[in-house]
Amino acid sequence: MPHRSFVYSPLPGRVVFGVGSFGKLADEFDELKVSRALVVCTPEQSPLADMVAIRLGAQCVGIFPKAVMHVPIEIARQARSYARQTGADCVVAIGGGSTIGLGKAIALESSIPILAIPTTYAGSEMTPIYGITESGEKKTGRDRRVLPRTVIYDPLLKRSLPAAMSATSGINAIAHCVEALYSDNANPITSMMAEDGIRSLAQGLPRVVENGDSLDARVDCLYGAWLSGSVLAATSVAMHHKLCHTLGGMLDLPHAETHTVVLPHATAYNAPAAPLAMARIARALDADDAAQGLYDLAKRLGAPTSLEELGVRSADLDRVADEALISPYPNPRSLQRDAIRQLLEDAWQGRRPASTATSTVNAPPGAG
Ligand code: NAD
Repeated sequence: MPHRSFVYSPLPGRVVFGVGSFGKLADEFDELKVSRALVVCTPEQSPLADMVAIRLGAQCVGIFPKAVMHVPIEIARQARSYARQTGADCVVAIGGGSTIGLGKAIALESSIPILAIPTTYAGSEMTPIYGITESGEKKTGRDRRVLPRTVIYDPLLKRSLPAAMSATSGINAIAHCVEALYSDNANPITSMMAEDGIRSLAQGLPRVVENGDSLDARVDCLYGAWLSGSVLAATSVAMHHKLCHTLGGMLDLPHAETHTVVLPHATAYNAPAAPLAMARIARALDADDAAQGLYDLAKRLGAPTSLEELGVRSADLDRVADEALISPYPNPRSLQRDAIRQLLEDAWQGRRPASTATSTVNAPPGAG
């Protein structure tokens, strides 16, 4: 096994995982030593927030049900002010990345701890990354104060997640693992977690789409989502995420769907520069080729595979390619304008990537 040099810096945090773990909420309050919770959620998930409030009784001091995508600063200000008014000593964020993002906006200002109960596979609950949108621009940063102190992963709460959202949210999680495997700061532990995250999601998602009530399948997906959030927190993302942020920001595209469409093409782009990562992705997918395996998984799940399906116009692709090259993230393969434009064309058309398999070696732990 080659000896690589690396830095491993695990983040603190407590994960309570398992069917029925939502029922341990009160115990987790004792563990955190908090007693005045502000519960945040989206308007659609108000009934869930009500369930939290009922469980907490007098320990719930308010519900703020106004979380929306990308954490607009106006909503963040309202939520912060409500947290101050109620004297909350913690935030319970129950929902997807948008809700957890709002919890993070509150914690960034007040330093009160977050207890997150994720209901999608996006992974924000495991990261110290926050994002707030002001004057149409989403500013992101890292701060330990926004890392949830406790995360309750209960597969029972995922049963309401519709098949289409499960599929795209799950592939969004796989995208974190794919980029972790060739990240410039990967290490043997993150690579192990990333490969297992892809495997768990790839095995669970088809069964979830077939039968959303299958708890075994939901457990597999949620376990994979936990791993994906953990590696997103510990490694830097690369060109795939940059392209998705560019497309999402410029054209207001849905987050998880954009990741789903772009991932096979970004993977094919990077394949020549990251053969060991590709071998591990293919191995986790039980496929001959990483990029094709990802594309075939999306097709099998009935998820979108073309940017055209998401409403992108062919005429937009040139300016997306230009924008994606501004302040690029570190990436295994250098960014060439023509090749990125071709990648976008392939993603727009929804073509199955050509095979890029160059190696079927047994990739060693940590090798990207
Ligand atoms: P989301 O939180 O925007 O949720 C989408 C919709 O699904 C909402 O209406 C929500 O109420 C609903 N929903 C959520 N769970 C459900 C369930 N179990 N059943 C039925 N409906 C449900 O979507 P998301 O993909 O989880 O989050 C996307 C956002 O999170 C983006 O803004 C992205 O940038 C951010 N994100 C941040 C990080 C980070 O580390 N900071 C990581 C991943 C994603």
